Amino acid sequence: MSVILKTKEEVEILREGGRRLAEILAKIADSVSSGMSTKELDDLAMMLIEEYGDKPAFLNYTPEGVSYPYPAALCVSINDEIVHGIPNDEVIIQEGDVVTVDLGLIHEGLYTDHAITVAVGKVKKEYLDLIYATRESLSRAIEAAKPGNYTGDIGYAVESYAKEKGYKVVRGLSGHGVGKKVHEDPYVPNYGRPGTGVLLEVGMVIAIEPMLTIGSEEIAVLDDEYTYVTYDGSMSAHFEHTVYIGEDGPEILTQA
Ligand code: MG
Repeated sequence: MSVILKTKEEVEILREGGRRLAEILAKIADSVSSGMSTKELDDLAMMLIEEYGDKPAFLNYTPEGVSYPYPAALCVSINDEIVHGIPNDEVIIQEGDVVTVDLGLIHEGLYTDHAITVAVGKVKKEYLDLIYATRESLSRAIEAAKPGNYTGDIGYAVESYAKEKGYKVVRGLSGHGVGKKVHEDPYVPNYGRPGTGVLLEVGMVIAIEPMLTIGSEEIAVLDDEYTYVTYDGSMSAHFEHTVYIGEDGPEILTQA
């Protein structure tokens, strides 16, 4: 395991990249509506990224264990899909859906990563509550991302809050270091014990991304090799920010 600490200059670039990514993803999230295909959302992502003169981070990226490169800029995951749903002309968003849009951006060679879950039209209250709790668990996790704390403190913050609210934390998927690449060390878990794992040091940049579900914490992957779903088909939500561990504490980079 080797964690890459970022220089002040690199953090400055990541701050600008994160700001741009937040603006782009907010526009995408605002445009999510019933009757639209997930491919249309990806087209919008590509168009906005080009407007900024930046590059998509996920397009053509091949994660470990997958046999082909990711074919889009955006991940769009609907309802029981947790992460990495591949945009498709034939997947049409419906009223009542819970939709996660997840996007990585390369700005001046450096990477930021950000995800938001939105409700489409009139959505069951229990799903809105899940979305709210997942966003709140991310806030708790970010508060725990102080220098001197450990990655286990972040995981504990997510898990303890989820448990208190009656949700499960999805197993086998986690946050990660980010900046020079899409995925770097350390592994940033969404569950764990305080004071365990990797020490958080000033200069680290990490993607924190809790994924909660109302049902089973077990996951499965579809035949496309990318789309992760809840094993029992239950609803899930996901929020992600890229966070800089600064001298004064955590700083969210992916905000406008
Ligand atoms: Mg990520």
